[in-house]
Amino acid sequence: MNKEQADQSLRDQKQFGKEEKRILGVLSQGLAGEFPNPKRVGCPGTVFLEGMASHQIPLSEAEKWLDHLGSCSPCFLEFTAIRKKLRKRRWFRLGGGLVVGLVALALWIALRSHSDVGRDQTAILDVRGYAAERGGESPSNQPPLELGRNTRHLVLYLPIGSRQGSYDLVMLNQIGNELFHGGGIAQLENHVVVLRTDIDLADLPAGLYSLGLRPRGFQWTRFPVRVF
Ligand SMILES: [Zn+2]
Repeated sequence: MNKEQADQSLRDQKQFGKEEKRILGVLSQGLAGEFPNPKRVGCPGTVFLEGMASHQIPLSEAEKWLDHLGSCSPCFLEFTAIRKKLRKRRWFRLGGGLVVGLVALALWIALRSHSDVGRDQTAILDVRGYAAERGGESPSNQPPLELGRNTRHLVLYLPIGSRQGSYDLVMLNQIGNELFHGGGIAQLENHVVVLRTDIDLADLPAGLYSLGLRPRGFQWTRFPVRVF
């Protein structure tokens, strides 16, 4: 390791040290119960976790288990408990900070990607600035709203003056075929009329669509939407 690498490594360790506490805190809330594994299938075992936490296991070896720790709540809990114990005994040294930091980082990434591909994505669309024509085609001078195909919960901030109450919601393709029909109740929240609804776009190919919206019994308003 040359000096430049050593300096970089030291900077990384300091950075990890700062981040680690916060990240581990956040993770422990979600991971503690999210990935139950009562039979401990595929777990490396207490001795290994202790070795990892006390940095007696080489980094290259420890890295192979990061994915497992990111998807096994018992191991995660055991690892954090061992780490706590070691810290109490003041056995925690700078070198270990890097391992723990990498573990924390990997867990954080695992958790993020887990929620990215998850089925509970929430999308917030703010159409307050959209002067969509009632009943007509969506104006072509406005950029389309962006909506991921994993979206399952939709939160719409409706234009000022919108009615509260029941709404119909449809997704239309370019030739006007209805591909999704849903609805929800719009309510005033902090001076904004907000419509919360569930949506399922999993079967829609990526592309341009039209989001149709109407207070039940009234005229449709359409907004251009790009599903990605
Ligand atoms: Zn495990």
